[in-house]
Amino acid sequence: MFSSTELEEIQKLLIPTNNIVIVTHYNPDGDAIGSSLGLKHFLVANGLSPEVVVSNDYPKFLKWMPEAKQITIADYKRKKAAELIENADVIFLLDFNATVRSGDRVGNWLQNAKAKKILIDHHQQPDYFDYVYSDTTVPATCQMVYHFIAALGKENLVNKNIAECLYCGIMTDTGGFRFRSTSATTHLVTAKLIEAGADPAFISTNTWDTNSVSRLHLLSLVLSRLEVVADGKVAILSLKREELKEFGFEKGDTEGFVNYGLSIGGTKMAAFFMEDLFEDFIKISFRSKDNVDCNAFSRKYFNGGGHINAAGGKYMKSLEETINDFKEKVVEINFD
Ligand code: 5GP
Ligand code: MN
Repeated sequence: MFSSTELEEIQKLLIPTNNIVIVTHYNPDGDAIGSSLGLKHFLVANGLSPEVVVSNDYPKFLKWMPEAKQITIADYKRKKAAELIENADVIFLLDFNATVRSGDRVGNWLQNAKAKKILIDHHQQPDYFDYVYSDTTVPATCQMVYHFIAALGKENLVNKNIAECLYCGIMTDTGGFRFRSTSATTHLVTAKLIEAGADPAFISTNTWDTNSVSRLHLLSLVLSRLEVVADGKVAILSLKREELKEFGFEKGDTEGFVNYGLSIGGTKMAAFFMEDLFEDFIKISFRSKDNVDCNAFSRKYFNGGGHINAAGGKYMKSLEETINDFKEKVVEINFD
């Protein structure tokens, strides 16, 4: 958590005459959108008028969140997004550790912005900003936003809007309260969010039970080709661009596919390789169990990073070459 001096300074920045902007990472997920909107609703409850800016569009299954439609998406509203960041007095950076992770364009704007920057994030290796609250042991940035609200002594302001958004991010980043960093504290915070109006059934139904038939057909194709290597320790999944097109791919359609690899008994790591729809690179998702460090592996070989048990990466070779390179490198990991 921020020190008490930092909290006092931050309090002084949170005044109606300051322009406040909240930014999150490229390809926003449930924790990114949940923490951004959750914090926005909290600042609104304090009489402020913050704006949320994201680099690119995010999955449809997150658009039920209160005021999701008011988010400024830089890909669609470039001028407005640039001006908001340029004119900001305070910028909250949520759920990412370095400006580049918000995309090249927004990342540049952030670097040139004069605003005081406040980072709240749970990824490894955070960059330096004016104020940094980084904790890699917390499963979701949404939980950290709750702790921040509590540290300000304002838990009493947590309303239904805040609670729904924060609950969603905790639910998605813990894989439904299953992943390793899910703690008693996570559940205590979640309980408070439910008391404040978050409805678990409503949120999980709106977020997870919104599959299209084509998404499930795409999943069945991916699963039919699933490969297990390294003595059953590593599962590999992949998708080609033509297949994405054939099944009418929409943003978010492949979310969670990688987890099926990890659901096989005995696997310690799963990797999902996908050709980008428009550009010539492979987007990679890594997931792991126990101490198998996806972050270190992805940083070392696949231009990425993230968390120990969940990381992403980007590779500039063909799909086949990428998977071959992966098979070559993955044997270096000690799975015992
Ligand atoms: P996903 O596989 O869901 O895209 O990402 C898993 C985790 O890794 C997320 O926390 C995400 O922020 C992080 N991540 C994904 N792609 C990248 C990347 O290219 N670079 C870094 N540093 N982190 C990434
Ligand atoms: Mn997160």
